[in-house]
Amino acid sequence: MPDLKALKTWTKEEINKLRDLLIEISHEIHAHPELGHQEHHAASYLAEILEKEGFAVERASAGLPTAFIAEFSAGTGADIGFLAEYDALPGLGHACGHNLIAASTLGAGIAIKRLLEAGELQGTVKVYGTPAEEGGGGKVTMVEAGLFDGLAAAISMHAGSGTNSVGGSSNAVLPLTFKFKGQPAHAAASPHKGVNALDAVIATFNGINALRQHVTPDVRIHGIITKGGAAANIVPDDCEASFLVRAVSKDGLAEVVEKVKNCAHAGALATGSRLEIVEALQYDDILVCAPLVDMMKANMEDVGLAVIEDHMGRGNYTAIATHDTSIIDAIKDLAAREGISSDSYEFQMLYGIRPWLQKSLADEGYKVRAYVPYGRDWYPYFSRRLAERPANIWFFIGSLFRR
Ligand SMILES: [Zn+2]
Repeated sequence: MPDLKALKTWTKEEINKLRDLLIEISHEIHAHPELGHQEHHAASYLAEILEKEGFAVERASAGLPTAFIAEFSAGTGADIGFLAEYDALPGLGHACGHNLIAASTLGAGIAIKRLLEAGELQGTVKVYGTPAEEGGGGKVTMVEAGLFDGLAAAISMHAGSGTNSVGGSSNAVLPLTFKFKGQPAHAAASPHKGVNALDAVIATFNGINALRQHVTPDVRIHGIITKGGAAANIVPDDCEASFLVRAVSKDGLAEVVEKVKNCAHAGALATGSRLEIVEALQYDDILVCAPLVDMMKANMEDVGLAVIEDHMGRGNYTAIATHDTSIIDAIKDLAAREGISSDSYEFQMLYGIRPWLQKSLADEGYKVRAYVPYGRDWYPYFSRRLAERPANIWFFIGSLFRR
């Protein structure tokens, strides 16, 4: 049994050695934004780095030109996969931070590879280049091709604007396009000869709006009209609407999709239009592995503490924004051990969250700063904080009753 603590220390050291390379990767991809399935620069750039590191690299996996799989094996053990994304958004570049996903998953993959190589671990590490996350569903095609079969775990990350969280799932979603074909006619001279495809679209929207009352609260159905006719004096004969249907699970999604399609059939039937339904690739809901999430959380706390220790150890004034008692206790221990004065750091918490903890820290002589969110956007701010960390609602409710 390997010494886990030593392995983690080694992994952190390896990642620190990769620091310049990882920042360079992030900047390079950020400077060359490419849309889904067109990420030729990013895919070949990343594949080359992994090849130089000693990975066996397969390019154009599952027939996708900008996908790749880099693999390194040493002995028999678990297969662990890291998923790298690198597509950008139209008009915005890397606004979703997929350059960071590419850099961090490469960093993790390379560090694990070096441990395998040194004989500290046994198994296989794979870095997957998964294109077209922002629409196009590169991973769906790769799953269908069986490229993730045999993996013990698939690990990825996504940058966000708030605090760190682990184990987030995401809803199942299916993009649907409804294409209605009718019969053109002059809208005033011979309307009785026309079959109105736009009316079929409108009937579809009305049917779906009636359906909304009868779906579970997790369901989201949102659509736009992408073709609505050419001129007001022509009965529209070629109209289209495009929808995204989402639900918390793929089974729930399948039920709703059936009903949404029936709304379109009803629109076609009511107007006499012909209907064609085009389904794009479906994302299933993400299945979260609870034991893996717990391990990830413990490691993130460990890394977080390492950053704080480093910062405080260099004599910098440090603000520790956390409501987590295990982190707070660790900081108190560190300060006592290293003889760091309580004047050179502070704890920061949100007003109303764990007030008893804030007070007891202050009573013990620690500096505590409470933040009061204010301004027009306080409600979305609070909602986002709660979404990021549902446990906050219990801190919040608990604090109301403890007053
Ligand atoms: Zn994203």
